[in-house]
Amino acid sequence: MTRLTRDQMRGKAQTVLGLIDPAELGSTLMHEHLIWNITPPPQRSNPPPPSELDLQQWWNLATSEIKVESNTTQLDVGVATRAAAEVVQKGGRTIVELTIGGLMPDPNGLAQVSRDSGAQIVMGSGHYVHDYQDPANANRSLEELAQEMVDQIQLGAWGTDVRAGLLGEIGCQWPWTDLEKKMLHAACLAQQETGAALTIHPARHQDHPWMLVEFLRAHGADLSRTIIDHIDRTIFDDDRLFRLADAGVVLEWDLFGQESCYYAPNIDIDMPNDAQRLRDIRKLIERGHGDQIVISQDICHTAHMTEFGGWGYAHIYKKVLPLARRRGFTEAELNKIMVETPRRLLTFI
Ligand SMILES: [Zn+2]
Repeated sequence: MTRLTRDQMRGKAQTVLGLIDPAELGSTLMHEHLIWNITPPPQRSNPPPPSELDLQQWWNLATSEIKVESNTTQLDVGVATRAAAEVVQKGGRTIVELTIGGLMPDPNGLAQVSRDSGAQIVMGSGHYVHDYQDPANANRSLEELAQEMVDQIQLGAWGTDVRAGLLGEIGCQWPWTDLEKKMLHAACLAQQETGAALTIHPARHQDHPWMLVEFLRAHGADLSRTIIDHIDRTIFDDDRLFRLADAGVVLEWDLFGQESCYYAPNIDIDMPNDAQRLRDIRKLIERGHGDQIVISQDICHTAHMTEFGGWGYAHIYKKVLPLARRRGFTEAELNKIMVETPRRLLTFI
């Protein structure tokens, strides 16, 4: 394995098949999972179950009302390839795949999916939330964790020579744990070292994104190259939303397709539907933040895939963009969200 230098990477984007001219990225989904295991580690069977579902239970599975391992585990390269091909068929070019430490990342599997589907795939790096991490991470130093992420970008990830194209999704729980803070600090150092974008899974608490902003500032992160994920299930008022936007971070609505207000992981909140997501995005555009918005579907349940009766990875192309156009979004605005901002973020500086 050879290490790519920062000079070799600067001005380029990196997919699982290698460095590319960022102009080739095209329309990009910024937060998906194609091959994953989000079953909590203590509940995982070995070997993992195949991807199959009892469709009579589809609604309960799609809303996470019931937990079934074959819904929270998808390790089949063929299933992932068919899903990625749908995106290409509907006009998408690039899928950012954020299955990282704790979620059973499969870099060689993603490279195969990319070759077989024609989709470009940009892979994440680092570790997900505390409860999914290898307990050994608690004893690893800040420098060691930072170097691991640098290596995943410059050298190869998870024992392969497939390289990552950005940092994260770095995971945070509520309450935010010391291990997660160390991991995020390490990601800030890796961002400074590599010039990569950083994407963060915030805790399920409306004040956590602002805590992230303060933490990122204190640790020298580039906020303009940092994405706060899952805004749809985290922020519910304009004050908090505008304050985040004013701080300069990129805001990501990545649960498009989830149309039910019932959100099993936190039933204290009203999950917005796609129309409400578009209204929040509209508000930010009117306020001048049109270049700080990205969208995606964060599919990580088999019930959400078309092959198992769900809306699938092309939902944004099939339903959301047409809806947005009917609601008055211009092509220039949508191009910023789908093409220009992802390209800016995925280009190493
Ligand atoms: Zn995710």
